[in-house]
Amino acid sequence: MQTKPTSAYVHIPFCTQICYYCDFSKVFIKNQPVDDYLRALIREWELSDIKELRTLYIGGGTPTAISAEQLDYLLSHLQKNLDLSKLEEFTIEANPGDLTVDKIEVLKKSAVNRVSLGVQTFDDKHLRQIGRSHNQAQIYESIDSLKSAGFHNISIDLIYALPGQTMDQVKENVRKALELDIPHLSLYSLILEHHTVFMNKMRRGKLNLPTEDLEAEMFDYIIQELEKNGFEHYEISNFTKPGMESRHNLMYWNNDEYYGVGAGASGYVNGVRYRNRGPIQHYLKAIAEDGHARLNEEHLTKVEMMEEEFFLGLRKKSGVSIKRFEEKFGMSFSDTYGDIVEKLQADGLLVKDPEVVRMTKRGLFLGDSVAEQFILED
Ligand code: SF4
Repeated sequence: MQTKPTSAYVHIPFCTQICYYCDFSKVFIKNQPVDDYLRALIREWELSDIKELRTLYIGGGTPTAISAEQLDYLLSHLQKNLDLSKLEEFTIEANPGDLTVDKIEVLKKSAVNRVSLGVQTFDDKHLRQIGRSHNQAQIYESIDSLKSAGFHNISIDLIYALPGQTMDQVKENVRKALELDIPHLSLYSLILEHHTVFMNKMRRGKLNLPTEDLEAEMFDYIIQELEKNGFEHYEISNFTKPGMESRHNLMYWNNDEYYGVGAGASGYVNGVRYRNRGPIQHYLKAIAEDGHARLNEEHLTKVEMMEEEFFLGLRKKSGVSIKRFEEKFGMSFSDTYGDIVEKLQADGLLVKDPEVVRMTKRGLFLGDSVAEQFILED
């Protein structure tokens, strides 16, 4: 019997600015049919018949780009039929510049219990350079307001290896992040994506990025400094105080299933990975006509599921459990992946004991390029 997913991702595709590095599914909010979008999203949600969840995550775009009334409509309708006693973690992403007092009030009266704040850097010059509209003062105001409203499960995102960024500036960012006294931090190196302002600049030779060696030094410093301060490095880019891991993100890395609701959202239900239509008007039309907006569905084969188990699981510092793999897929681990693991062990990228396979520090730095080796030939 298929079991229903116990996690859901809800996508709000609106932003009050478009950052120069961003390739997420989003649009500038001005003149967008936000009310229509929220009504359509709730229709998709209700038709999905979601009653019991362990984790719920609202991401974007920027969920807090919508007004306090719209946020209230969204949260109250998402919660309406949910058994809140089962909901362990309810996260919303927010941008420091958007978190007004009335929006925090709305969050407070909802079941949201975790806020993930897109800080990116504390440096006002860098914030402008990457196209963000908030400033350092607003970061502190948002954190203070959230704490005063009783939110303590707060995470911030930071980006390092920004154009022109020095090691000292990274150290300054880490120091300020630690001073916030919050239990979770995500630190990503800048990735150049296609069709972004930054990629254009790079092509024209106008983006002065740190060298790969400097980026590796920054990553090393971040890990050392955060571990020294009581954070556990539990996933390539994520650090937590004991017990404060993002349960929703662990669900992805554990290769579990989840609903994806909203324009451009992806989901994974009954062995099918699907993606919804991205452009808002296409999404609205599909929901009105069909009650769902799936653009493509991929029925995963057993081999693809095994590959994903590694591709996602190796991101976690705890690695991939050999027992779980063998139970889940009914295959011998060493027959399937023995040679690949041996090679990656010899290259100093993986370690294996009788129970788990996990990345070394160097493996974690190289990340997906190591995990890709687990993609089996057809
Ligand atoms: S990074 Fe976030 S805030 Fe910036 S454009 Fe992308 S989704 Fe919007």
